[in-house]
Amino acid sequence: MRFNLKADFPLSGSAVSIRQDIDKFVSDFAKKVLNENEKISWNLKGEKVGELDIDTGGTNRAHNLLPRFKKAWSLEISKKHHIAGGRGIKIREYKIEFELEKEPLKDISIPFADVIIQGKNAKIILKDVSEEFLRKNYIDRMIALVKEKVKNQYYEGKGEFWKLIWESDEKKPVWTKDPTEEMSKLGWLKQGPTKGKWFYQPQATAILKAMEEIAIKEVLEPLGFQEIIESHIVPFDIWLKTGHLEGMPAEFYYVAEPKTRDVGQWERFIDLTKITKEVDFDELQKNVNIPNAGICYAQCPVIYWSFKGKTIAEKSLPVLVYDRTAISGRYESGGRHGIERVDEFHRIEPVYIGTREQLLEVRDKLLERYKHVFNNIFDLEWRMAWVTPWYMQQAGKIGDAITQDTGTIDFEAYMPYRGDRKKSEWLEFQNLSILGDKYVKAFNVKAQKSTLWSGCSGIGLERWTTTFLAQKGLDPTKWPEGFKNYLKELPKGIEFL
Ligand code: ATP
Ligand code: ZN
Ligand code: MG
Repeated sequence: MRFNLKADFPLSGSAVSIRQDIDKFVSDFAKKVLNENEKISWNLKGEKVGELDIDTGGTNRAHNLLPRFKKAWSLEISKKHHIAGGRGIKIREYKIEFELEKEPLKDISIPFADVIIQGKNAKIILKDVSEEFLRKNYIDRMIALVKEKVKNQYYEGKGEFWKLIWESDEKKPVWTKDPTEEMSKLGWLKQGPTKGKWFYQPQATAILKAMEEIAIKEVLEPLGFQEIIESHIVPFDIWLKTGHLEGMPAEFYYVAEPKTRDVGQWERFIDLTKITKEVDFDELQKNVNIPNAGICYAQCPVIYWSFKGKTIAEKSLPVLVYDRTAISGRYESGGRHGIERVDEFHRIEPVYIGTREQLLEVRDKLLERYKHVFNNIFDLEWRMAWVTPWYMQQAGKIGDAITQDTGTIDFEAYMPYRGDRKKSEWLEFQNLSILGDKYVKAFNVKAQKSTLWSGCSGIGLERWTTTFLAQKGLDPTKWPEGFKNYLKELPKGIEFL
Protein backbone atom coordinates (compact mmCIF):
# COMPACT_ATOMS: atom_id res chain seq x y z
CA MET A 1 0.00 0.00 0.00
CA ARG A 2 1.09 3.50 -0.73
CA PHE A 3 -0.23 6.68 0.83
CA ASN A 4 0.59 10.07 -0.62
CA LEU A 5 -0.73 13.18 1.04
CA LYS A 6 -0.22 16.71 -0.26
CA ALA A 7 -1.32 19.52 2.01
CA ASP A 8 -1.07 23.24 2.55
CA PHE A 9 0.20 23.76 6.07
CA PRO A 10 -0.70 27.29 7.22
CA LEU A 11 1.53 29.16 9.66
CA SER A 12 0.64 31.91 12.08
CA GLY A 13 3.59 34.07 11.00
CA SER A 14 6.30 34.41 8.38
CA ALA A 15 8.69 31.47 8.32
CA VAL A 16 11.18 32.98 5.90
CA SER A 17 13.80 33.59 8.55
CA ILE A 18 13.53 30.17 10.21
CA ARG A 19 13.63 27.96 7.16
CA GLN A 20 16.75 26.16 8.27
CA ASP A 21 15.24 25.30 11.63
CA ILE A 22 12.16 23.95 9.92
CA ASP A 23 14.21 21.87 7.50
CA LYS A 24 16.06 20.35 10.42
CA PHE A 25 12.84 19.76 12.32
CA VAL A 26 11.33 17.98 9.31
CA SER A 27 14.36 15.79 8.71
CA ASP A 28 14.56 14.87 12.42
CA PHE A 29 10.88 14.02 12.44
CA ALA A 30 11.31 11.95 9.29
CA LYS A 31 14.23 10.05 10.79
CA LYS A 32 12.21 9.28 13.87
CA VAL A 33 9.00 8.05 12.27
CA LEU A 34 9.61 6.93 8.71
CA ASN A 35 10.51 3.52 7.37
CA GLU A 36 12.66 2.83 4.37
CA ASN A 37 11.20 4.12 1.09
CA GLU A 38 9.08 6.71 2.86
CA LYS A 39 9.58 10.43 2.79
CA ILE A 40 8.31 13.74 4.04
CA SER A 41 9.12 16.87 2.16
CA TRP A 42 8.48 20.45 3.10
CA ASN A 43 8.64 23.67 1.10
CA LEU A 44 7.77 27.19 1.94
CA LYS A 45 5.16 28.55 -0.41
CA GLY A 46 4.92 32.31 0.03
CA GLU A 47 5.74 33.44 3.56
CA LYS A 48 3.12 31.78 5.69
CA VAL A 49 2.19 28.46 4.07
CA GLY A 50 4.19 25.27 4.03
CA GLU A 51 3.77 22.73 1.28
CA LEU A 52 3.74 19.34 2.91
CA ASP A 53 4.16 16.09 1.05
CA ILE A 54 4.01 12.83 2.98
CA ASP A 55 4.63 9.58 1.19
CA THR A 56 4.39 6.36 3.17
CA GLY A 57 3.75 2.64 2.96
CA GLY A 58 1.08 0.58 4.64
CA THR A 59 2.02 0.72 8.31
CA ASN A 60 2.71 4.44 8.48
CA ARG A 61 -0.42 5.68 6.81
CA ALA A 62 0.23 9.27 5.79
CA HIS A 63 -3.04 10.46 7.30
CA ASN A 64 -1.99 8.99 10.63
CA LEU A 65 1.32 10.83 10.51
CA LEU A 66 -0.32 14.19 9.96
CA PRO A 67 -1.53 14.70 13.56
CA ARG A 68 1.87 13.53 14.84
CA PHE A 69 3.57 16.03 12.58
CA LYS A 70 1.36 18.82 13.92
CA LYS A 71 2.04 17.84 17.49
CA ALA A 72 5.80 17.73 16.94
CA TRP A 73 5.60 21.13 15.26
CA SER A 74 3.93 22.66 18.27
CA LEU A 75 6.52 21.17 20.62
CA GLU A 76 9.49 22.32 18.57
CA ILE A 77 8.81 25.20 16.22
CA SER A 78 5.90 26.85 18.02
CA LYS A 79 7.73 26.72 21.31
CA LYS A 80 10.96 28.10 19.95
CA HIS A 81 9.72 30.63 17.38
CA HIS A 82 6.13 31.24 18.40
CA ILE A 83 4.86 30.31 14.99
CA ALA A 84 1.89 27.99 15.19
CA GLY A 85 1.43 25.56 12.34
CA GLY A 86 -1.33 23.50 10.81
CA ARG A 87 -4.41 25.37 11.93
CA GLY A 88 -6.92 25.17 9.07
CA ILE A 89 -4.75 22.74 7.17
CA LYS A 90 -5.92 22.00 3.60
CA ILE A 91 -5.37 18.55 2.20
CA ARG A 92 -5.10 19.26 -1.48
CA GLU A 93 -4.81 15.69 -2.58
CA TYR A 94 -4.65 12.30 -0.93
CA LYS A 95 -3.74 9.38 -3.12
CA ILE A 96 -3.88 5.81 -1.86
CA GLU A 97 -2.61 2.86 -3.84
CA PHE A 98 -3.28 -0.75 -2.99
CA GLU A 99 -3.40 -4.21 -4.51
CA LEU A 100 -6.62 -6.07 -5.20
CA GLU A 101 -7.00 -9.84 -4.99
CA LYS A 102 -8.61 -9.93 -8.40
CA GLU A 103 -9.05 -7.58 -11.32
CA PRO A 104 -12.45 -5.91 -11.30
CA LEU A 105 -14.90 -7.01 -13.97
CA LYS A 106 -16.22 -3.50 -14.43
CA ASP A 107 -15.64 0.04 -13.20
CA ILE A 108 -16.14 0.93 -9.58
CA SER A 109 -17.08 4.17 -7.92
CA ILE A 110 -17.37 5.22 -4.30
CA PRO A 111 -18.38 8.48 -2.63
CA PHE A 112 -15.75 11.14 -1.77
CA ALA A 113 -13.05 9.90 -4.16
CA ASP A 114 -12.08 8.99 -7.69
CA VAL A 115 -11.21 5.35 -8.14
CA ILE A 116 -8.75 4.33 -10.83
CA ILE A 117 -7.99 0.67 -11.31
CA GLN A 118 -5.39 -0.80 -13.66
CA GLY A 119 -5.14 -4.55 -13.49
CA LYS A 120 -5.00 -5.38 -9.80
CA ASN A 121 -3.62 -1.99 -8.86
CA ALA A 122 -6.19 0.34 -7.34
CA LYS A 123 -5.83 4.04 -6.67
CA ILE A 124 -8.25 6.19 -4.78
CA ILE A 125 -7.77 9.90 -5.06
CA LEU A 126 -9.36 12.40 -2.74
CA LYS A 127 -9.25 16.12 -3.40
CA ASP A 128 -9.68 18.97 -0.93
CA VAL A 129 -10.62 17.00 2.16
CA SER A 130 -10.62 18.29 5.69
CA GLU A 131 -8.44 17.08 8.50
CA GLU A 132 -11.55 15.98 10.32
CA PHE A 133 -12.41 13.71 7.41
CA LEU A 134 -9.06 11.96 7.78
CA ARG A 135 -9.51 11.59 11.52
CA LYS A 136 -12.81 9.74 11.15
CA ASN A 137 -11.51 6.40 9.90
CA TYR A 138 -13.24 6.98 6.58
CA ILE A 139 -10.09 6.11 4.64
CA ASP A 140 -9.91 2.53 5.93
CA ARG A 141 -13.59 2.04 5.20
CA MET A 142 -13.20 3.46 1.69
CA ILE A 143 -10.37 1.02 0.94
CA ALA A 144 -12.47 -1.82 2.34
CA LEU A 145 -15.44 -0.71 0.25
CA VAL A 146 -13.45 -0.78 -3.00
CA LYS A 147 -12.22 -4.29 -2.17
CA GLU A 148 -15.71 -5.42 -1.24
CA LYS A 149 -17.19 -4.05 -4.47
CA VAL A 150 -14.64 -5.89 -6.58
CA LYS A 151 -15.28 -9.10 -4.68
CA ASN A 152 -19.03 -8.69 -5.10
CA GLN A 153 -18.64 -8.54 -8.87
CA TYR A 154 -17.46 -12.14 -8.79
CA TYR A 155 -20.47 -13.28 -6.80
CA GLU A 156 -23.20 -11.49 -8.71
CA GLY A 157 -25.71 -13.97 -10.05
CA LYS A 158 -24.21 -16.86 -8.13
CA GLY A 159 -26.89 -18.56 -6.08
CA GLU A 160 -26.82 -18.91 -2.34
CA PHE A 161 -24.84 -21.64 -0.73
CA TRP A 162 -27.27 -24.50 -0.06
CA LYS A 163 -26.62 -27.90 1.47
CA LEU A 164 -29.28 -30.38 2.44
CA ILE A 165 -29.17 -31.44 6.11
CA TRP A 166 -32.35 -33.45 6.50
CA GLU A 167 -35.51 -34.24 4.55
CA SER A 168 -38.83 -35.83 5.39
CA ASP A 169 -40.52 -38.57 3.42
CA GLU A 170 -42.67 -37.61 0.50
CA LYS A 171 -46.24 -36.92 1.56
CA LYS A 172 -49.24 -37.14 -0.69
CA PRO A 173 -50.80 -33.68 -0.81
CA VAL A 174 -54.53 -33.34 -0.22
CA TRP A 175 -54.83 -30.91 -3.14
CA THR A 176 -52.73 -28.80 -5.52
CA LYS A 177 -54.30 -25.37 -5.24
CA ASP A 178 -52.83 -22.06 -4.11
CA PRO A 179 -54.26 -21.52 -0.62
CA THR A 180 -54.28 -17.73 -0.87
CA GLU A 181 -56.43 -17.75 -4.01
CA GLU A 182 -58.84 -20.28 -2.60
CA MET A 183 -59.15 -18.50 0.75
CA SER A 184 -59.80 -15.23 -1.07
CA LYS A 185 -62.59 -16.85 -3.08
CA LEU A 186 -64.15 -18.16 0.14
CA GLY A 187 -63.94 -14.73 1.74
CA TRP A 188 -61.51 -15.87 4.48
CA LEU A 189 -59.00 -13.31 3.34
CA LYS A 190 -59.11 -9.93 1.70
CA GLN A 191 -56.25 -8.26 -0.09
CA GLY A 192 -55.22 -4.76 0.88
CA PRO A 193 -55.75 -2.01 1.84
CA THR A 194 -52.28 -1.40 0.34
CA LYS A 195 -49.68 -3.46 -1.52
CA GLY A 196 -48.67 -6.74 0.11
CA LYS A 197 -51.04 -6.37 3.07
CA TRP A 198 -53.94 -8.61 4.00
CA PHE A 199 -57.08 -8.48 6.03
CA TYR A 200 -57.64 -11.78 7.77
CA GLN A 201 -61.28 -12.63 8.29
CA PRO A 202 -62.20 -14.85 11.28
CA GLN A 203 -61.48 -18.14 9.44
CA ALA A 204 -57.95 -17.22 8.32
CA THR A 205 -57.29 -15.51 11.65
CA ALA A 206 -58.16 -18.72 13.50
CA ILE A 207 -55.57 -20.61 11.46
CA LEU A 208 -52.82 -18.01 12.01
CA LYS A 209 -53.62 -17.90 15.71
CA ALA A 210 -53.47 -21.71 15.91
CA MET A 211 -50.02 -21.51 14.34
CA GLU A 212 -48.95 -18.99 16.96
CA GLU A 213 -50.29 -21.16 19.77
CA ILE A 214 -48.51 -24.22 18.43
CA ALA A 215 -45.18 -22.38 18.19
CA ILE A 216 -45.50 -21.19 21.77
CA LYS A 217 -46.93 -24.34 23.37
CA GLU A 218 -44.92 -26.91 21.43
CA VAL A 219 -41.61 -25.14 20.90
CA LEU A 220 -40.93 -22.07 23.01
CA GLU A 221 -42.56 -22.79 26.38
CA PRO A 222 -41.17 -26.34 26.68
CA LEU A 223 -37.67 -24.92 26.15
CA GLY A 224 -38.15 -22.18 28.73
CA PHE A 225 -38.34 -19.13 26.44
CA GLN A 226 -39.78 -16.05 28.15
CA GLU A 227 -42.00 -13.61 26.30
CA ILE A 228 -41.05 -9.96 25.91
CA ILE A 229 -42.80 -7.11 24.10
CA GLU A 230 -40.75 -4.71 22.05
CA SER A 231 -41.35 -1.55 20.08
CA HIS A 232 -41.84 -2.12 16.40
CA ILE A 233 -40.54 1.26 15.36
CA VAL A 234 -36.79 0.93 15.00
CA PRO A 235 -34.57 4.02 15.15
CA PHE A 236 -31.71 4.17 12.65
CA ASP A 237 -28.98 3.96 15.30
CA ILE A 238 -30.05 0.39 16.05
CA TRP A 239 -29.89 -0.59 12.37
CA LEU A 240 -26.55 1.15 12.05
CA LYS A 241 -25.23 -1.18 14.72
CA THR A 242 -26.72 -4.37 13.28
CA GLY A 243 -25.77 -3.49 9.72
CA HIS A 244 -29.35 -3.52 8.45
CA LEU A 245 -29.13 0.10 7.33
CA GLU A 246 -26.43 -0.72 4.82
CA GLY A 247 -27.83 -4.18 4.17
CA MET A 248 -31.43 -3.59 3.17
CA PRO A 249 -32.33 0.12 2.96
CA ALA A 250 -34.48 -0.61 -0.10
CA GLU A 251 -36.71 -3.00 1.87
CA PHE A 252 -37.65 -0.81 4.84
CA TYR A 253 -40.89 0.95 5.50
CA TYR A 254 -39.74 4.31 6.81
CA VAL A 255 -41.32 6.16 9.73
CA ALA A 256 -41.48 9.94 9.97
CA GLU A 257 -42.49 12.07 12.95
CA PRO A 258 -44.58 15.24 12.72
CA LYS A 259 -42.47 18.39 13.04
CA THR A 260 -44.87 19.60 15.69
CA ARG A 261 -48.13 18.61 17.34
CA ASP A 262 -49.18 22.24 17.51
CA VAL A 263 -52.43 22.19 15.52
CA GLY A 264 -51.86 25.82 14.66
CA GLN A 265 -48.97 24.77 12.48
CA TRP A 266 -51.20 22.17 10.86
CA GLU A 267 -54.05 24.60 10.20
CA ARG A 268 -53.46 24.96 6.47
CA PHE A 269 -53.20 21.21 6.00
CA ILE A 270 -56.43 20.69 7.95
CA ASP A 271 -58.23 23.38 5.97
CA LEU A 272 -57.04 21.99 2.65
CA THR A 273 -58.23 18.54 3.67
CA LYS A 274 -61.62 19.88 4.67
CA ILE A 275 -62.10 21.74 1.40
CA THR A 276 -60.56 19.35 -1.13
CA LYS A 277 -61.16 16.02 0.67
CA GLU A 278 -57.78 15.00 -0.70
CA VAL A 279 -54.33 14.74 0.80
CA ASP A 280 -52.16 17.71 -0.10
CA PHE A 281 -48.77 16.04 -0.07
CA ASP A 282 -46.83 19.28 -0.57
CA GLU A 283 -48.43 20.78 2.50
CA LEU A 284 -47.96 17.54 4.42
CA GLN A 285 -44.28 17.52 3.63
CA LYS A 286 -43.90 20.92 5.31
CA ASN A 287 -45.16 19.43 8.55
CA VAL A 288 -43.34 16.10 8.81
CA ASN A 289 -39.68 15.38 9.40
CA ILE A 290 -37.50 13.22 7.26
CA PRO A 291 -37.76 9.60 8.53
CA ASN A 292 -35.54 8.74 11.47
CA ALA A 293 -36.76 5.19 11.96
CA GLY A 294 -38.36 2.28 10.19
CA ILE A 295 -40.94 -0.39 10.90
CA CYS A 296 -39.52 -3.58 12.39
CA TYR A 297 -37.76 -5.70 9.75
CA ALA A 298 -36.89 -8.54 12.10
CA GLN A 299 -37.42 -8.45 15.84
CA CYS A 300 -33.90 -9.31 16.99
CA PRO A 301 -32.23 -5.89 16.58
CA VAL A 302 -34.46 -4.25 19.20
CA ILE A 303 -34.03 -7.26 21.48
CA TYR A 304 -30.25 -6.86 21.28
CA TRP A 305 -30.64 -3.15 21.89
CA SER A 306 -32.47 -3.96 25.15
CA PHE A 307 -29.28 -5.69 26.35
CA LYS A 308 -27.02 -2.85 25.22
CA GLY A 309 -24.09 -2.29 27.60
CA LYS A 310 -25.42 -4.82 30.10
CA THR A 311 -23.62 -7.56 31.95
CA ILE A 312 -25.80 -10.63 32.16
CA ALA A 313 -25.65 -12.73 35.33
CA GLU A 314 -24.28 -16.24 34.74
CA LYS A 315 -27.45 -17.71 36.25
CA SER A 316 -29.55 -16.03 33.54
CA LEU A 317 -27.61 -17.78 30.77
CA PRO A 318 -28.60 -18.80 28.25
CA VAL A 319 -31.02 -15.92 27.82
CA LEU A 320 -34.07 -17.29 25.99
CA VAL A 321 -36.66 -14.71 24.98
CA TYR A 322 -39.15 -14.21 22.19
CA ASP A 323 -41.30 -11.45 20.75
CA ARG A 324 -44.61 -12.04 18.98
CA THR A 325 -46.13 -8.59 18.93
CA ALA A 326 -43.92 -6.55 16.61
CA ILE A 327 -45.18 -6.77 13.06
CA SER A 328 -42.57 -6.92 10.34
CA GLY A 329 -42.72 -4.60 7.36
CA ARG A 330 -40.70 -5.26 4.22
CA TYR A 331 -41.03 -3.63 0.83
CA GLU A 332 -41.00 -6.81 -1.26
CA SER A 333 -41.97 -5.15 -4.53
CA GLY A 334 -41.94 -7.59 -7.48
CA GLY A 335 -41.57 -10.67 -5.28
CA ARG A 336 -44.95 -10.36 -3.60
CA HIS A 337 -47.16 -13.40 -3.75
CA GLY A 338 -50.32 -14.27 -1.83
CA ILE A 339 -49.84 -14.45 1.92
CA GLU A 340 -46.45 -16.11 1.49
CA ARG A 341 -44.47 -13.08 0.39
CA VAL A 342 -46.11 -10.03 1.88
CA ASP A 343 -45.07 -6.54 2.90
CA GLU A 344 -46.49 -6.92 6.39
CA PHE A 345 -46.21 -10.16 8.29
CA HIS A 346 -46.61 -11.69 11.70
CA ARG A 347 -43.63 -13.42 13.06
CA ILE A 348 -42.46 -14.88 16.32
CA GLU A 349 -38.79 -14.40 16.85
CA PRO A 350 -36.95 -16.29 19.57
CA VAL A 351 -33.53 -14.86 20.43
CA TYR A 352 -30.90 -16.73 22.42
CA ILE A 353 -27.76 -15.40 24.06
CA GLY A 354 -25.28 -17.62 25.84
CA THR A 355 -21.97 -19.43 25.58
CA ARG A 356 -21.07 -21.30 22.41
CA GLU A 357 -21.86 -24.63 24.11
CA GLN A 358 -25.19 -23.36 25.41
CA LEU A 359 -26.21 -22.10 21.99
CA LEU A 360 -25.29 -25.31 20.23
CA GLU A 361 -27.49 -27.09 22.74
CA VAL A 362 -30.32 -24.57 22.21
CA ARG A 363 -30.06 -25.17 18.48
CA ASP A 364 -30.30 -28.94 18.93
CA LYS A 365 -33.31 -28.60 21.20
CA LEU A 366 -35.04 -26.13 18.90
CA LEU A 367 -34.46 -28.42 15.93
CA GLU A 368 -35.95 -31.30 17.86
CA ARG A 369 -39.06 -29.30 18.82
CA TYR A 370 -39.48 -27.90 15.31
CA LYS A 371 -39.20 -31.39 13.86
CA HIS A 372 -41.87 -32.54 16.27
CA VAL A 373 -44.21 -29.77 15.06
CA PHE A 374 -43.62 -30.25 11.34
CA ASN A 375 -43.67 -34.05 11.48
CA ASN A 376 -46.21 -34.90 14.17
CA ILE A 377 -48.56 -31.92 14.15
CA PHE A 378 -48.48 -30.64 10.56
CA ASP A 379 -47.41 -33.91 8.91
CA LEU A 380 -45.47 -31.88 6.33
CA GLU A 381 -43.21 -32.72 3.46
CA TRP A 382 -40.26 -30.50 4.28
CA ARG A 383 -36.50 -30.31 4.52
CA MET A 384 -33.69 -28.43 6.22
CA ALA A 385 -30.75 -26.94 4.42
CA TRP A 386 -27.63 -25.17 5.53
CA VAL A 387 -27.65 -21.77 3.83
CA THR A 388 -25.21 -19.05 4.52
CA PRO A 389 -24.78 -15.77 2.73
CA TRP A 390 -21.77 -15.98 0.45
CA TYR A 391 -20.18 -12.94 2.05
CA MET A 392 -19.99 -14.77 5.35
CA GLN A 393 -18.45 -17.81 3.71
CA GLN A 394 -16.09 -15.48 1.93
CA ALA A 395 -15.03 -13.76 5.11
CA GLY A 396 -13.90 -17.19 6.25
CA LYS A 397 -16.49 -17.16 9.00
CA ILE A 398 -18.33 -20.10 7.60
CA GLY A 399 -16.53 -22.94 5.98
CA ASP A 400 -17.77 -26.43 5.44
CA ALA A 401 -21.34 -26.16 6.53
CA ILE A 402 -22.57 -28.79 8.89
CA THR A 403 -19.46 -29.10 10.98
CA GLN A 404 -19.55 -25.36 11.61
CA ASP A 405 -21.00 -23.70 14.67
CA THR A 406 -22.30 -20.48 13.18
CA GLY A 407 -24.58 -19.98 10.22
CA THR A 408 -28.19 -20.33 9.16
CA ILE A 409 -30.49 -23.26 8.59
CA ASP A 410 -33.50 -22.74 6.33
CA PHE A 411 -36.64 -24.80 6.65
CA GLU A 412 -38.29 -25.37 3.30
CA ALA A 413 -41.57 -26.98 2.31
CA TYR A 414 -42.90 -28.46 -0.87
CA MET A 415 -45.72 -26.33 -2.30
CA PRO A 416 -47.83 -28.71 -4.42
CA TYR A 417 -49.54 -25.88 -6.32
CA ARG A 418 -46.17 -24.91 -7.79
CA GLY A 419 -45.84 -28.21 -9.61
CA ASP A 420 -43.45 -31.11 -9.50
CA ARG A 421 -41.69 -31.59 -6.15
CA LYS A 422 -38.33 -32.07 -7.83
CA LYS A 423 -38.56 -29.16 -10.24
CA SER A 424 -40.54 -26.51 -8.37
CA GLU A 425 -39.18 -24.04 -5.88
CA TRP A 426 -39.85 -24.94 -2.27
CA LEU A 427 -40.88 -22.24 0.21
CA GLU A 428 -38.66 -21.15 3.08
CA PHE A 429 -41.11 -21.08 5.94
CA GLN A 430 -38.69 -20.41 8.75
CA ASN A 431 -35.04 -20.24 9.65
CA LEU A 432 -32.66 -20.65 12.54
CA SER A 433 -29.31 -18.97 13.01
CA ILE A 434 -26.34 -18.87 15.32
CA LEU A 435 -24.46 -15.69 14.63
CA GLY A 436 -21.39 -15.89 16.84
CA ASP A 437 -20.42 -12.68 18.62
CA LYS A 438 -21.48 -10.29 15.84
CA TYR A 439 -24.46 -8.75 17.66
CA VAL A 440 -23.33 -9.10 21.27
CA LYS A 441 -20.21 -7.20 20.23
CA ALA A 442 -22.17 -4.58 18.32
CA PHE A 443 -24.28 -3.86 21.42
CA ASN A 444 -21.53 -4.49 23.95
CA VAL A 445 -23.39 -7.24 25.80
CA LYS A 446 -21.28 -9.13 28.33
CA ALA A 447 -21.51 -11.88 30.91
CA GLN A 448 -19.75 -12.06 34.30
CA LYS A 449 -17.31 -14.71 33.07
CA SER A 450 -18.47 -16.35 29.89
CA THR A 451 -17.86 -15.24 26.32
CA LEU A 452 -21.19 -14.69 24.64
CA TRP A 453 -22.69 -15.66 21.35
CA SER A 454 -26.18 -15.07 20.07
CA GLY A 455 -28.68 -16.34 17.56
CA CYS A 456 -32.29 -16.13 16.49
CA SER A 457 -34.99 -17.96 14.63
CA GLY A 458 -37.74 -16.46 12.48
CA ILE A 459 -41.10 -18.19 12.73
CA GLY A 460 -43.25 -16.67 10.01
CA LEU A 461 -46.90 -17.31 10.80
CA GLU A 462 -48.05 -16.53 7.25
CA ARG A 463 -45.42 -18.96 5.97
CA TRP A 464 -46.40 -21.71 8.42
CA THR A 465 -50.02 -21.17 7.42
CA THR A 466 -49.56 -21.19 3.66
CA THR A 467 -47.21 -24.16 3.84
CA PHE A 468 -49.63 -26.20 5.91
CA LEU A 469 -52.65 -25.31 3.79
CA ALA A 470 -50.83 -25.85 0.49
CA GLN A 471 -50.25 -29.47 1.50
CA LYS A 472 -53.29 -30.18 3.67
CA GLY A 473 -56.09 -28.14 2.05
CA LEU A 474 -58.80 -25.97 3.54
CA ASP A 475 -61.15 -28.70 4.77
CA PRO A 476 -60.59 -29.14 8.51
CA THR A 477 -61.90 -32.71 8.41
CA LYS A 478 -58.89 -33.64 6.28
CA TRP A 479 -56.35 -32.01 8.55
CA PRO A 480 -53.91 -34.20 10.54
CA GLU A 481 -55.08 -35.19 14.03
CA GLY A 482 -52.22 -33.34 15.69
CA PHE A 483 -53.34 -30.07 14.15
CA LYS A 484 -57.00 -30.74 14.92
CA ASN A 485 -56.03 -30.78 18.60
CA TYR A 486 -55.38 -27.07 18.19
CA LEU A 487 -58.05 -26.22 15.64
CA LYS A 488 -60.72 -28.65 14.62
CA GLU A 489 -63.32 -26.34 13.18
CA LEU A 490 -63.31 -22.84 11.80
CA PRO A 491 -65.36 -19.88 12.98
CA LYS A 492 -68.47 -19.16 10.93
CA GLY A 493 -67.14 -15.89 9.62
CA ILE A 494 -69.32 -13.20 8.13
CA GLU A 495 -71.55 -13.68 5.12
CA PHE A 496 -71.91 -10.87 2.63
CA LEU A 497 -74.84 -10.43 0.26
P1 ATP B 1 -36.71 -14.75 1.70
O1 ATP B 1 -35.41 -15.29 1.19
O2 ATP B 1 -37.89 -15.65 1.48
O3 ATP B 1 -36.95 -13.32 1.33
P2 ATP B 1 -35.53 -13.86 4.07
O4 ATP B 1 -34.20 -14.49 4.01
O5 ATP B 1 -35.70 -12.44 3.69
O6 ATP B 1 -36.57 -14.75 3.28
P3 ATP B 1 -35.47 -13.76 6.87
O7 ATP B 1 -35.09 -12.34 6.95
O8 ATP B 1 -34.46 -14.78 7.15
O9 ATP B 1 -36.14 -14.10 5.50
O10 ATP B 1 -36.77 -13.94 7.77
C1 ATP B 1 -37.04 -15.14 8.43
C2 ATP B 1 -38.45 -15.58 8.27
O11 ATP B 1 -39.36 -14.50 8.19
C3 ATP B 1 -38.68 -16.36 7.00
O12 ATP B 1 -38.28 -17.69 7.14
C4 ATP B 1 -40.18 -16.24 6.85
O13 ATP B 1 -40.82 -17.14 7.73
C5 ATP B 1 -40.45 -14.84 7.32
N1 ATP B 1 -40.52 -13.89 6.21
C6 ATP B 1 -39.51 -13.17 5.67
N2 ATP B 1 -39.95 -12.38 4.67
C7 ATP B 1 -41.29 -12.60 4.58
C8 ATP B 1 -42.32 -12.07 3.75
N3 ATP B 1 -42.08 -11.16 2.82
N4 ATP B 1 -43.58 -12.53 3.93
C9 ATP B 1 -43.86 -13.43 4.89
N5 ATP B 1 -42.93 -13.96 5.70
C10 ATP B 1 -41.65 -13.56 5.57
ZN1 ZN C 1 -33.14 -12.27 13.90
MG1 MG D 1 -36.33 -11.46 1.95
